Amino acid sequence: MRSLVLTIFNRSRRNLARWFTLSMGSILVTFAVILYFLEVKDQLGIFDQELYNTSRLMAAGVEDGLYQEQQRISLEDVPILGGEALPFDNRIVYARWYTPKKQLLEFFGITPSERLNNKLGFQTIELSDRPNQQLRQLTLPVFQNGQLIGYLEIAASLAPVEETLWSLRLFLIVGVPMALSVISLTGWFLGGIAMQPIRQSYEQLQRFTADASHELRTPLTAIRNNAQFGLIEPIDPCQQQISLENIDRIAESMGMLVSDLLFLARNEGKLELETINLVNLVNWLQPLAAEYSHQAKEKGLEFTSEFPQESVMLRVNPDLMRQAVANLLSNACRYTPSGGRVCLRVFLQSRWVVIAVQDSGIGIPETDLPHIFERFYRVDNVRSRQTGGFGLGLAIAQQIVQAHGGEIIATSRLGEGSTLQIKLPFTSNFSV
Ligand code: ATP
Ligand code: MG
Repeated sequence: MRSLVLTIFNRSRRNLARWFTLSMGSILVTFAVILYFLEVKDQLGIFDQELYNTSRLMAAGVEDGLYQEQQRISLEDVPILGGEALPFDNRIVYARWYTPKKQLLEFFGITPSERLNNKLGFQTIELSDRPNQQLRQLTLPVFQNGQLIGYLEIAASLAPVEETLWSLRLFLIVGVPMALSVISLTGWFLGGIAMQPIRQSYEQLQRFTADASHELRTPLTAIRNNAQFGLIEPIDPCQQQISLENIDRIAESMGMLVSDLLFLARNEGKLELETINLVNLVNWLQPLAAEYSHQAKEKGLEFTSEFPQESVMLRVNPDLMRQAVANLLSNACRYTPSGGRVCLRVFLQSRWVVIAVQDSGIGIPETDLPHIFERFYRVDNVRSRQTGGFGLGLAIAQQIVQAHGGEIIATSRLGEGSTLQIKLPFTSNFSV
């Protein structure tokens, strides 16, 4: 059963990790692709700007009169006109000068066709004799005083851009899978953390169901035994009476257990606002104290109560809070042998209102103290069963107090007695 639970949780954890990796991975890949294309655009933009600057310098040389004076241009002179070193001078694969009628006038580098057939502007081209080398070509008209004096076409190798982009591609090719592995590991780790509370509450629920069914099975068996005993022939009316009385008693105890279980299941979580009332704690606790004083006296216990002089107004669900205090008082009376003392005290402690139930009973061993608020937990199963406890009273009390924003603290010394304190926050909602 446990291994089945583990398999289910591991599968859910894997699924969580997978979905996390998928979603984070797709974000990462999209981001990487966008980054790559932005870099391509950026690099090409810088390259085009430099190519354009070079072409402007070349065209300026022509505009400066070279063309008018010589009526033809020597392109060998153009890229280093005026002795200026052009940024592209050694990467320019070719440069061509065309007349306004698009007839070739002069060129440098690869031999072009006699007429200018290319579109104006930037183009990325590949030469047929150098298929792996991409060129960026710029063709633009050159004007002087508003008059078209020719066309300039230059091309430079895109190798530097390619190199930069290749480094980026390499970085992404190595980096993205590495980041994906980190993401999937993180997903697995986070999946584990996310599943932990679900796993714990599932195991708790399983334990609770197992305990509850065990608790119900015992009285059911007792009912069945009593019924069978009462039906044995020849029927003895006296024995039948005893059997029926036993069945009635056990059924009553089962009814209490079922209502306790229902209570725990229904009242889990927050309180409903309409059930909250402003009560005077002292007035409200006095009848409960009187009730338990009576019970304590019957058991031969000394019962005392101490309340503050002033009234303590608190916003609580009175029925639930009564149940919580009653569970503590009932424990104190139950686990204190006759001749002992039980004391109910209410006092204010900084921002808390404390309802303390103190007894001089058998006490709780230190090792059991952290567990007494767990459902079905009993310090000594045999002893508690003799005294009729299910091990639910403190769990119910804690659930009620926590729903009110408070806490229960237990202190005890084995053989000397125990003190259980309900601490309720004394906020602006509450007034003295
Ligand atoms: P139930 O309250 O459901 O009838 P219970 O009294 O056994 O049964 P809890 O009230 O939850 O269950 O208490 C859990 C256990 O803590 C008890 O079984 C008992 O062993 C121990 N305990 C609680 N209060 C005291 C106390 N005042 N003195 C000694 N032991 C206590
Ligand atoms: Mg109890």
